[in-house]
Amino acid sequence: MNIVFMGPPGAGKGTQADRIVKRFGIPHISTGDAFRQAMQEGTPLGLKAKEYVSQGLLVPDEITNGIVRERLAQPDCAGGFLLDGFPRTLAQAETLDDILASLNRGIDHVVYLKVDRDLLFIRLTGRRICKSCGEIYHTKFRPPRTEGVCDKCGGELMQRADDSEEKVGTRLDEYFNKTEPVLKYYDAKGLLREVDGERDIDEVTAQIGAVLKG
Ligand code: ADP
Ligand code: AMP
Repeated sequence: MNIVFMGPPGAGKGTQADRIVKRFGIPHISTGDAFRQAMQEGTPLGLKAKEYVSQGLLVPDEITNGIVRERLAQPDCAGGFLLDGFPRTLAQAETLDDILASLNRGIDHVVYLKVDRDLLFIRLTGRRICKSCGEIYHTKFRPPRTEGVCDKCGGELMQRADDSEEKVGTRLDEYFNKTEPVLKYYDAKGLLREVDGERDIDEVTAQIGAVLKG
């Protein structure tokens, strides 16, 4: 199964992707995670990406497309993949079509998690991430059992630098200006499956499960 998750920052893509990849046994490809890892390691890619990510701006297509092209050619993607956070521009969507055509593959479903802007703000500013295992929490909607500590591995929880109130506004503007038009692109191809991302986490997982079976 070749799946693309779309939706604004904070829609729940990462939360749902963790569950869906376990169910289907496919790799989770998040360009945001790839940039954060490169930034942490201080690689040339990381230093370049940081100029944009730290301001809440999209990283240029030439840089982002290269990462996805390399990743999709890896053998573990042969049985399917879940792309989370890519494509985010029309040019990226067109490049993805080219990459997949060169691999004799196609997209099966584009799952769109729909959430309103006001709720996105609350979701993003309350998000907490485990430093060790990457598990995703929320101060109100999915709090850990002990404040600041990961339920799964005992790791320390942190707030992403770009989840500050100041950066969230820019990120949402980038989404509505550059990424939302990509939804129409996939709708015209008959691939778009809209899911109500405002329901609780288990209900959203159930809706996605129903879409992927159909
Ligand atoms: P994205 O990957 O789309 O940016 P995340 O999966 O990281 O979004 O979720 C953003 C925040 O919202 C996290 O703090 C997460 O715990 C919380 N969250 C995700 N889905 C839901 C939901 N259905 N209801 C309430 N909170 C949610
Ligand atoms: P995310 O973890 O998906 O919220 O992404 C975090 C940040 O990484 C974004 O705000 C962008 O700066 C950058 N990023 C992730 N994916 C892309 C993409 N497909 N195109 C451009 N920038 C991206």
